[in-house]
Amino acid sequence: MKTYYILISITLSFILFISCSQSQRNNAQNEDLQINKTEDAISISMESIIEEPIENSVAEIIEKKEVPVLCYHRIEDGRSDVYSVSPDQFASHFKILSDSGYNSILPDELYAYLKYNAALPEKPFMITFDDSRTEHITIAAPQLEKHNFKGAFFIMTVTNNKKNYLSHDEIAQLANNGHTVGLHSWDHVMVTKYTDSTFWKQQVLDPQSKLEEMIGKPVDYWAYPNGVYDREAAEQLDKHFKLSFILMAKRDSLYPLQTIRRMIAPPVSPERLIKSMKSNFN
Ligand SMILES: [Zn+2]
Repeated sequence: MKTYYILISITLSFILFISCSQSQRNNAQNEDLQINKTEDAISISMESIIEEPIENSVAEIIEKKEVPVLCYHRIEDGRSDVYSVSPDQFASHFKILSDSGYNSILPDELYAYLKYNAALPEKPFMITFDDSRTEHITIAAPQLEKHNFKGAFFIMTVTNNKKNYLSHDEIAQLANNGHTVGLHSWDHVMVTKYTDSTFWKQQVLDPQSKLEEMIGKPVDYWAYPNGVYDREAAEQLDKHFKLSFILMAKRDSLYPLQTIRRMIAPPVSPERLIKSMKSNFN
């Protein structure tokens, strides 16, 4: 907004200045010339406003209302840990979200909202999946499609084509079906252990290129292994990704876009899930 007001002020001062000068002149030809110049000045100012989208400051980004982001890992029966939900629970979560009028958004939309105040649909939320499990395409994707939702799938590339994990073709298929494919490191080493450039190349740069080649699109989003981050890593990741996702830790005060909060969707009833979504995000 600041840029907008400065431009408007400059334009108005210029118009005022021209108007005052004109009143002292009697030469009609000169007046025409000055009016044309004023019009040019206005159109140049308008072009500057349109061409340079106004970016929110870090403080403005932090002030914005958070969008609830869910994070799923395993979807299978017979497990009783916080990282797993049964296929029935998973289906019940998406039925209630759909019935309650929630609309899924993708990381591109969240980025445009946080940085440029782009509008979001009513009751927005985001669905994310970590660790490239095969059930993300066999169980999750059909459920999302049933309710017209889209999700973000964060891939650790070491597992590609391995048993119980997504194959190259399946990852490409998710991207082709309108979901977002993001990176979750090469083999799940936490960023706090990236002590030199070798780690950055192995865990971030090489797998990012590999994934981009696989899906034929840029990979602009990162999910931190174990949700763990530090300032130094956030600063580095900011050079390579539009947004990075943590879990329920506090956001970094300088890099809020590199520390987007997510809640692990627990194996609970759909009603409790909605309650947690409301209480966990501001
Ligand atoms: Zn993970």
